[in-house]
Amino acid sequence: MSDFEGIRALVTGGASGIGRATAELLAERGAQVAVLDLDPSSVDKPLLAYRADVTDDASVREAVAAAVADLGGLDVLVNNAGIGAQGTVEDNSDDDWHRVYDVNVVGMVRTARACLPHLRASSHAAIVNTCSIAATAGLPQRALYSATKGAVYSLTLAMAADHVREGIRVNCVNPGTVDTPWVGRLLDAAPDPAAERAALEARQPTGRLVGAGEVAGAIAYLASPLSGATTGTSLAVDGGMQGLRLRPV
Ligand code: NAD
Repeated sequence: MSDFEGIRALVTGGASGIGRATAELLAERGAQVAVLDLDPSSVDKPLLAYRADVTDDASVREAVAAAVADLGGLDVLVNNAGIGAQGTVEDNSDDDWHRVYDVNVVGMVRTARACLPHLRASSHAAIVNTCSIAATAGLPQRALYSATKGAVYSLTLAMAADHVREGIRVNCVNPGTVDTPWVGRLLDAAPDPAAERAALEARQPTGRLVGAGEVAGAIAYLASPLSGATTGTSLAVDGGMQGLRLRPV
C-alpha cells in the first residue's frame, strides 16, 4: 500500500461501518480526510466532519464546497453512504423504492456531481463506489436493495467511461456480509441475536463475517496510485462468497 501523503479524500457515510474504517485507514496512511454523514457527531480529529444528507442536493453541494475549501482540493471520493431494504417486490411500496433508490443511487450521483469539478483539478483522481455482491448475486429477500446496487455497478462502469480521458478513475468494491453496525442492527432484531450471528458466520465460506477494515483496504487500494491502470472494475471483498459460488443467505 502506497502512502496517502498529500492526498485529499472525502468519504460519504464515513461516521460508521465501512465508511468509518475507510476514513480512518486513509488518515492513518497520511491522507487528509473529510467525512460527510447524516450524523457526523461521533467523528473525531484528525478526520474533518460535515453534516449532509445525500438525498438533499443543496446540503451535498454545501458540504462538498466546505470540505474542499478546508482540504485545499480533492483527489479521492469514496461514495459509500447507503441504506438497506429487505423483502420481495411485493413487500416494498413505491415510496420504499423511491426512498432507498434516492439514497443508494441518486445520492452517489449528487455527490459525484458536486466533486467532479474538483477531481478534474487533481493529478491522481479516483472515485470508489461502495456496491455489494447483491448487485449480481441474486439474493433472496433483497429485491429493492439488489436493484439499487445493480444500478451502482452500472453507474460505476458508465462514469469510468465518461471520465477516463479526464484522468479520473472510477471503480467499486463489492462487499459480502460485513460486520458493521448495520449488520449488528439486523442481528439484534432477531429473536436470538447470538444464534443468528453464529448461523450467519457458518454460512460464510471463511466461517466469519468480513471485517470493515478489510473492505477499507480494498477501497484504499482502488483509491491509490497503486491501482493507477484500473478503472471500470469491481473488486469483491466477500470472503470468497461469489468466487466460490456459495449462497450467502
Ligand atoms: P452503516 O449503517 O454502519 O453506515 C452507513 C453510514 O451512512 C452511517 O454513518 C449513516 O449515517 C450514513 N448515511 C445513511 N444515509 C445517509 C444519507 N442519506 N446521507 C448521508 N449519510 C447517510 O452501514 P455499512 O454497513 O457501513 O454500509 C456502508 C455501505 O456499504 C452501504 O452503501 C452499504 O450498502 C454497503 N454494504 C454494506 C454491507 C454490509 O454487510 N454491511 C455489504 C455490502 C455493501
